[in-house]
Amino acid sequence: MAVVGSANVDLVFRAPTVPAPGQTLLGSDFTSFLGGKGANQAVAAARLGADVSFIAKVGHDTFGSDIARTLGRNGVDVTFLSAEEGVATGTAGIVVADSGENAIVVASGANWKLEPEEIERALAATHPDLVLTQFEIREESVEACSGQDRLVVNPAPARDISDAFCAHIDILTPNRSEAEQLTGLRPSNDLTCWTCANVLFDKGIKNVVITLGSEGAFFATPHNGRRLPTLSVRAIDTTGAGDAFNGALATFLLQGRDLENAVQLANAVAAISTTRRGAIPSMPTLAELKEAVGRLF
Ligand code: ADP
Repeated sequence: MAVVGSANVDLVFRAPTVPAPGQTLLGSDFTSFLGGKGANQAVAAARLGADVSFIAKVGHDTFGSDIARTLGRNGVDVTFLSAEEGVATGTAGIVVADSGENAIVVASGANWKLEPEEIERALAATHPDLVLTQFEIREESVEACSGQDRLVVNPAPARDISDAFCAHIDILTPNRSEAEQLTGLRPSNDLTCWTCANVLFDKGIKNVVITLGSEGAFFATPHNGRRLPTLSVRAIDTTGAGDAFNGALATFLLQGRDLENAVQLANAVAAISTTRRGAIPSMPTLAELKEAVGRLF
């Protein structure tokens, strides 16, 4: 499969409060995490044994090399992860206050320089059996994935989707708030999930999977749909749960599993990821998944 999307570095500062304009604060500690929805989803799929090519852009800088090395070490093919001179790798600066309140600035950097023509060239060279993409790259770049045999689109962060592009989407995977932004309806129970899915079907999208946090996920095809519960776990960090879900969903669909079974397995992968810290380090391997939910295979 090909994952077309973003790679970022999150720089997280802990401080007593979020700084006011003009204020300099002494923070208590600093951590950096590699991420970006594209990179997270590529690793999630590779850990489960999928053959993954990552089509993305970083800067010609240390963060960009870190991302390429980490993805490569996780078994992701980074041939089409290009490093561009004169632009910085996508970065988020995050201040987390002791109260838990935060302030975030995102510089999309190289992610915004991933051009539609580069994506088309990479897709023509790799001939993926499935393409998975998200919305942390430009709209025209996402739309360069049109015309693929199987296209899974994770509309995160949410933005409007053109009717022309909707017709190319096999599976759209919003979370609850993204589904609400896209349809104007809050998917709070089975009936409203089904109504949301129908709004999206009317736009030409073929299948819809709405992720519902600890309540699992609702899958809908034009013929049937229902909520599938996830594992009951002690979640300590839900960062990247949606990415774990999407990488897993794509992996299991490619194994020829039906949407229902692929969603059950993706729920389990995402639930396991919430029991560990971070995004990339939290993605389970196939062996860990089989140990947890062998019955679903
Ligand atoms: P996002 O992370 O994109 O906001 P969700 O919150 O819907 O998306 O989470 C994605 C998936 O992660 C869910 O469908 C579910 O399988 C799993 N998940 C999230 N939170 C929990 C939780 N507290 N317990 C178990 N599974 C969870």
